[in-house]
Formats: sequence, structure tokens, C-alpha cells
Amino acid sequence: MSCDENCRKPINRQAHCSVCHKTFTGATWFDMHRIGGKCVEVAGLEGRDGLWATPESHATRARWAKHLRELRAQKGTGEQ
Ligand SMILES: [Zn+2]
Ligand SMILES: [Zn+2]
Repeated sequence: MSCDENCRKPINRQAHCSVCHKTFTGATWFDMHRIGGKCVEVAGLEGRDGLWATPESHATRARWAKHLRELRAQKGTGEQ
């Protein structure tokens, strides 16, 4: 089974399931997801935009994304 462009490409230590096409934030979650050659729901994980992680992890990512946006915005407006 191959991935199409709708699949979220794993970056850094993320892992992508080539069977159900979910992307996990870590190999640990992926291992928990693949049990006995089958895809299983991992308790405590939340899917957002195709990325599966703990709610805390999503919150951290959202904070970083906001931080990076702010940094970029500052650079755009008159850094000396
Ligand atoms: Zn895929
Ligand atoms: Zn899967």
C-alpha cells in the first residue's frame, strides 16, 4: 500500500503508518498502534490534521507554531 499526497509526511522522529495512513509524533506511539500486524487505536492519543499525539503534545506543538509565527512576524517588520 502506498501513500498519496494527502498523507502527512513524517518529519523528525515522527512515524507514518503505511496501512491506515496516520502519522504519529513518535515511534513509541507507532509501536503501540501496530499490534499483531493490525492497526489499533492508541488510548490517550488525539488526531489533529492527520497527526496523532497526546493532547499535551498537540498543545506544545501549537505553542511552538505560534512562537515561530511571532518570530517571523517580528523579522518582517523592521529588525535592525
Ligand atoms: Zn500514507
Ligand atoms: Zn495504522
